[in-house]
Amino acid sequence: GDALGATVEFLTPNEIRHQHGEHRDITGGGWLRLKAGKVTDDTTMSLALGEAILASGGIEAKSAADAFDAWMRAKPVDIGNTVRRNLITYRKTRNPEAPASEHDAGNGAAMRLLPVALACYGRPAATAIAASRAQAHVTHHNELSDAACETLVFMVQDLMAGRDAGEVQRERADNLVRRYPVFAWNKKPIGNPSGYVVDTMQAVFQAFFGTNSFEECLIDVVNRGGDADTTGAIAGMLAGARYGREAIPKRWLKALDAQVLSQCEKQAAALIELASDAADTATAPT
Ligand code: MG
Ligand code: MG
Repeated sequence: GDALGATVEFLTPNEIRHQHGEHRDITGGGWLRLKAGKVTDDTTMSLALGEAILASGGIEAKSAADAFDAWMRAKPVDIGNTVRRNLITYRKTRNPEAPASEHDAGNGAAMRLLPVALACYGRPAATAIAASRAQAHVTHHNELSDAACETLVFMVQDLMAGRDAGEVQRERADNLVRRYPVFAWNKKPIGNPSGYVVDTMQAVFQAFFGTNSFEECLIDVVNRGGDADTTGAIAGMLAGARYGREAIPKRWLKALDAQVLSQCEKQAAALIELASDAADTATAPT
């Protein structure tokens, strides 16, 4: 989703139609002038978080903060303002929890949370919530961001467990709206979603619940433009969990940077293994 959406990030739906017709292929370009198949911060921060989880055997704020800091030092192709500001603060304070801020409601914590959903699969909800906040608060310490992140973690896990999308909508997406009505996503079609986590979630939910395949879902969400690499990344997590690997168009897997593809596959497998080891330990008789 990141590689597909990066081409049209910051374009409006009209600009996309004008320049690309419907954007359906991983072609690179965009404001970052990416080579086809390259990914942006959404994917590279996720991979950094996943590596930190595997290295420390769990999800800890400190190791996530160090991993993000190392990621920033390696000069990523792009970086969000909130991420940059709070990582610079972390370098000074060594406190891996950014101060709570009502202004830090961007989508930067949500875009990179997939490793949390995988590493906590089958574990108690409280464990997943604590892990989600630990990674999120390194850069985004905000109630709306937390609510979005936790909803996404549970949705990915429910879908991996084979639960029906309608049920997941009622239990997770509708529940998010009950708790935080600002997320109501069924009112009007979302175009040009900003980096505000509420816009992001509304666009992703419309695309995810309004389509019936991995390909349709991702094409729908990125053609809304705006923060399209990030809506693509998040929709990709949900659609991947719902439809499975076989549903990913072969032409996209072929176009994706081979190293990124292999890193994602290896890391996902290792994180799920970590989760099942942890679940075994938790239930093993002593
Ligand atoms: Mg990005
Ligand atoms: Mg983005």
